[in-house]
Amino acid sequence: MADQSNIQSAASKSIRPFRSSEEYLYAMKEDLAEWFNTLYELDVQADTFLESLETGCALCQHANNVNRSAGDFQRRHPAAAARMRVPRREVVFQARNVAPGSFIARDNVSNFIQWCRQDLGIQDVLMFETNDLVLKKNEKNFVLCLLEVARRGAKFGMLAPMLIQMEEEIEEEMRDQTASGALGVHHEGRASRSQALASAGGAQRLALCDLRNLDELVREILGCCTCPSQFPMVKVSEGKYKVGDSNALIFVRVLRSHVMVRVGGGWDTLEHYLDKHDPCRCASLCECPPGPQSPPLTPPRGRFASPVPLRGPRRGRAPPGR
Ligand SMILES: [Zn+2]
Repeated sequence: MADQSNIQSAASKSIRPFRSSEEYLYAMKEDLAEWFNTLYELDVQADTFLESLETGCALCQHANNVNRSAGDFQRRHPAAAARMRVPRREVVFQARNVAPGSFIARDNVSNFIQWCRQDLGIQDVLMFETNDLVLKKNEKNFVLCLLEVARRGAKFGMLAPMLIQMEEEIEEEMRDQTASGALGVHHEGRASRSQALASAGGAQRLALCDLRNLDELVREILGCCTCPSQFPMVKVSEGKYKVGDSNALIFVRVLRSHVMVRVGGGWDTLEHYLDKHDPCRCASLCECPPGPQSPPLTPPRGRFASPVPLRGPRRGRAPPGR
């Protein structure tokens, strides 16, 4: 089982003193690594995430476990399963003495990919290719695909990474909001509803970090704004904020040492989100006219700049993942 004390203590630590356009990806790798380790007693680390999984063994093992959970779910809830895509096909793979980069490793990874496409029906935009993992060509798509695999598994009652649990929580809040047509009146019952949801669906849940420190962290990050009047970000309810002049609503959550924002169908870090929306940060990151699609052309400066190296290859052009 998960070492939940670790999860909770990490969540209460102060934010990591660096920022980069890849931080959201690092946060996702941390989350997926912990999830894999909890499920399979592995020792996957965020810093060596691709290396840990490049033989494809753990991926194929997981695929077969999703098949099993899906089968169990179908037996218990035939009506619900009839409306879902239920994967069945056993993924054949070699589990022992697989050298990274070998033909067998590539074969394992390729079989996993085929299962993702054909059995889970994962859309192309979230898929990766064998070389993305084996030659580490595209870390982002590999990570996004695994998150989607985890999302599907969660629907069959499997343990979900914390990010996926947060998505479910936010979606539930949005449904409630739509149902009542009012803003910000529902947060009181969230914990009990989440428990009810967990017992009804049979899904296993890691402990979600509480929102106590969230507003403090948000104000700390927002405090780095140097605009003549501070970039507006107003708390509407726990974990929900109105930002900018457009009064757009965003959901914010703490994931270990990262403050994450739910944007579109994906996640970004709050700092990276503000880099693209807060005028003073846009200006300090980019000499050209600021725009949401502009990648940072110079290394981050300012209070959060630190000697900590950026993680992974720089791929600043891609938008944050869903
Ligand atoms: Zn500003």
